[in-house]
Amino acid sequence: MPVFSFPMKKTASTPRYRGRFAPSPTGPLHFGSLVAALGSYLDARANRGSWRVRIEDLDQTRTVTGTADEILRTLEQFGFEWDGTVLYQSQRSDLYAHHLNLLLQADLAYPCGCSRKEINLAASQGIEGAIYPGTCSRGLPPGRQARAIRLRTFDQATRFNDAVQGPQSQRLAQEIGDFVVRRADGFHAYQLAVVVDDALQGITRVVRGADLLLSTPRQIHLQQLLEFPAPTFAHLPLVVDRTGRKLSKQSGDAPVDARKPLPALLLALAHLGQPMPSEPPLGLDEFWEWAICHWSMAAVPKKLAALPPQLC
Ligand code: GLU
Repeated sequence: MPVFSFPMKKTASTPRYRGRFAPSPTGPLHFGSLVAALGSYLDARANRGSWRVRIEDLDQTRTVTGTADEILRTLEQFGFEWDGTVLYQSQRSDLYAHHLNLLLQADLAYPCGCSRKEINLAASQGIEGAIYPGTCSRGLPPGRQARAIRLRTFDQATRFNDAVQGPQSQRLAQEIGDFVVRRADGFHAYQLAVVVDDALQGITRVVRGADLLLSTPRQIHLQQLLEFPAPTFAHLPLVVDRTGRKLSKQSGDAPVDARKPLPALLLALAHLGQPMPSEPPLGLDEFWEWAICHWSMAAVPKKLAALPPQLC
């Protein structure tokens, strides 16, 4: 009898937690993006996971020169520490094209020659506007040039359990319709790029703003068609102003002040419903130690949006 035996080799191991923050460089980091960065970072670190940063500069018509570097500098000044190198979507078009081709070859995606005006005239309304009526789904009508490429959706419910917002279900064919994966202007669509990147980066948990909750079933559908592993999702309450409008980099909402990171981090922590230290932390190290140690996803308010704490 051997006195020592090796532990059984596990056949399927659970991948180690890997999270990410994926800002679009459309302007400097504002309080709303700080909340998303903080939530994803704390969840990763509290789970002893890694945390990646990806710059979503795919849509060059929205990208503002210099802001990607500015966002990264601000994150550093706030004390965020990312793992690995920063990915830039603008450098990954070949990967998106490769996966798009797989979908086209399997007839899961098809070229569409319709203009927006034509779609609006023929379409019924879904939760995000016009539902594509399927004009080109059986082939381009004669004399038509391909403009965009669309992904087929099916008559079935796509379900997932969001770690903050609870169980979600969407019938893609009825509520969204066949959706664009490559746009008429030639750019790959966000939905395709985000799914390819999350899979190739090995992301296991997506923590981001609740404005993307409605996009998630489209992303799960794409993951399934591309046979990618499914990450879990947590959608944090958005930061809105008194009129209910989401703070956005694009509309020039006040950037966070990188010279005074602590007050903004404490406000972001409060927005996420986390326990607050009884004494204000003396410095960033103390803040991070407290916040990681006390992080609780269960304490994040189950709301799609909320005013920033000082406006409540
Ligand atoms: N790039 C998106 C933004 O800045 C976030 C996308 C995502 O997290 O999936 O709002």
